[in-house]
Amino acid sequence: MQLNYIANASVRSASGKTIPVIDPSDGQPFDEIQRSNAQDINHAVQAAHDCLDKVWHKVSAAERGRLLMALSRKIAEHADELAAIEQRDCGKPTKQAKADAAALVRYFEFYAGACDKLHGETLPYLDGYSVMTWREPHGVTGHIIPWNYPMQIFGRSVGGALAAGNVCVVKPAEDACLSLIRVAQLAAEAGFPAGAINIVTGYGHEVGDALARHPGIHHISFTGSPTVGTLIQQVAAERHCPVTLELGGKSPQIVFADADLEQAIPALVNAIVQNAGQTCSAGSRLLVDDTIYEPLLARLGQAFEKLRVGPATMDLDVGPLIRQTQQQRVWDFLSDAQVAGIPRVAQGQIVDKAPDTGFYQAPTLLRDVPVMHRLAQEEVFGPVLCAMSFRDEDHAVELANATQFGLVAGIWTQDGARQFRMAKRVKSGQVFINNYGAGGGVELPFGGVKSSGHGREKGFEALYGFTTLKTVAVKHG
Ligand code: NAD
Repeated sequence: MQLNYIANASVRSASGKTIPVIDPSDGQPFDEIQRSNAQDINHAVQAAHDCLDKVWHKVSAAERGRLLMALSRKIAEHADELAAIEQRDCGKPTKQAKADAAALVRYFEFYAGACDKLHGETLPYLDGYSVMTWREPHGVTGHIIPWNYPMQIFGRSVGGALAAGNVCVVKPAEDACLSLIRVAQLAAEAGFPAGAINIVTGYGHEVGDALARHPGIHHISFTGSPTVGTLIQQVAAERHCPVTLELGGKSPQIVFADADLEQAIPALVNAIVQNAGQTCSAGSRLLVDDTIYEPLLARLGQAFEKLRVGPATMDLDVGPLIRQTQQQRVWDFLSDAQVAGIPRVAQGQIVDKAPDTGFYQAPTLLRDVPVMHRLAQEEVFGPVLCAMSFRDEDHAVELANATQFGLVAGIWTQDGARQFRMAKRVKSGQVFINNYGAGGGVELPFGGVKSSGHGREKGFEALYGFTTLKTVAVKHG
C-alpha cells in the first residue's frame, strides 16, 4: 500500500480510506493509494510552512541548486525503477516511460543550474534614489498534476517552484501517483529538508479542491482539463491567489504543398499516437493543402495501418489508455463521427496478446472532419487524428485558429517567408516549423493562449511565474 509523503515521512490519510490502483494494460488492481481529505492537506501545508519558515528561507540559491542537482542525480540512478513504476501505473510503453524518467532528470538538472541565476534589476530613477527589484518566492506552492505525464509535469512544475525558493504541496492525479511518491522519497535521500516536497494523494473533488482552497497556499500550478481549470481559477480568485493553468489543446499540424513529406509523415503520426494521444500538445488536427490532401492521406493511412497497440511492457507503438472512462470517452467521440458520416481513412491494430480487460484503442485517422464538429473542437485525449483540407494560406490560418484552444501549432513548408507569416498568425503558445515538439524541450517555455490556459512552465521563463517581484526604493539623498 502506498502512503502520503509529508515532512519526509510516509503517513496514512486521516480518513484511513484507500483507492485501488489499476494497471491499464489489464484493468486489474495491483496496489492502493491513500484517499486523503482536507485534514491531510492541512497537515501537508503546515509541514511546508514549517520548512519555509524554519529552514528553507535561509538556504542560499547556490545551495538550493546543489540540492536540485543531487535530486537529479538520484533520479538518474533510479531512472529504470521510476520508469517501471510509471509504466505499470499509466500503461506507458517502455520507450515512453524511460523518456519521461530522462526528462525528469533533465528538469531538475536544468533548474539546479538556474537557481543562482534568477535576479532582479536596478532601475534608473530620480536623483537621490536607488531602486531595485527583488524576485521573491511566493512561499508555499500547490501543484495539481494530471495522469498523462506525472513525472514530466512534476519536474517542470515542482522543479521550477523549488528553484525559485518555494516549498511544494503536490496532489497527483488519482490514476497516477506512484512515481511521484517515490521521487519525494528520493528527494529526502538527496537532502531536501522535511516539508520541502509533500505528496498528498486522493480524488480531485476532495483533496484537490481542499488544496486549491487552502489559505496557506500562495500559488497554484494546475495542468488538466479546462473544466477543472475553471473551477481552480474561481476558487483561487476568492483569495486572489495566483494560478498557472495548462489546460490542453486541439493543436493543428499545417502541411503545405511544398512540405518535405518524408520528414513530416513520421512526425505527424508520432504527434498523435505518442502516449496513446493522451498529450496536451498532441497534434490532433491535420490541416492539409488541398493539392496534396489525397496523396498525403493515402500515405498517412498506410502508416496508421502499421501501428500496433498492446500492453505497456510489449513496448509497441501505442499502449493502453489510462482508464476505462477515458476509453469510453474516445469511443463516444468515434461513435459521434460515425453518426455524422465522417469517413475513416485507416486504423491501427490491437495485438492479440492484449488482454480484453485492458483499455486499448486503435489509432484512427478520420478525414473531412467539419471544422465545427466536436471532433475538431474538443480534446479527445486518445489516438484520433482529424484531417481537413485548406485552399490557401488565409484559409489555413482561419482553420488553425478556429478552436477555443491555442497551445501548440506545427507548420510544414519549405518557404521561409511563409514560415514566418504563419508563425505570426497562428494563435498558440508554441510554434514548431518543420518539426513538432522539438523532442520535449525542457528549456523551452510552454503554455497556452485562449482556453489552453495562461502562465508559462518550462525554461527559465517559468521562474518568473514562481516568483513575485518586489520593488525597493531607497532615498539616500
Ligand atoms: P482533470 O482535470 O479532472 O484532472 C487533472 C487533475 O485535477 C487531477 O489531479 C485531478 O484529481 C484534479 N482535480 C479534479 N477535480 C478537481 C477539483 N474539483 N479541484 C481540484 N483538483 C481537481 O482531468 P481528468 O478528468 O483526469 O481528464 C479529463 C480530460 O481532461 C481528459 O480527457 C483530457 O481532455 C483533459 N486532460 C488534459 C490534460 C493536459 O495535460 N492538458 C491532462 C489530463 C487531462
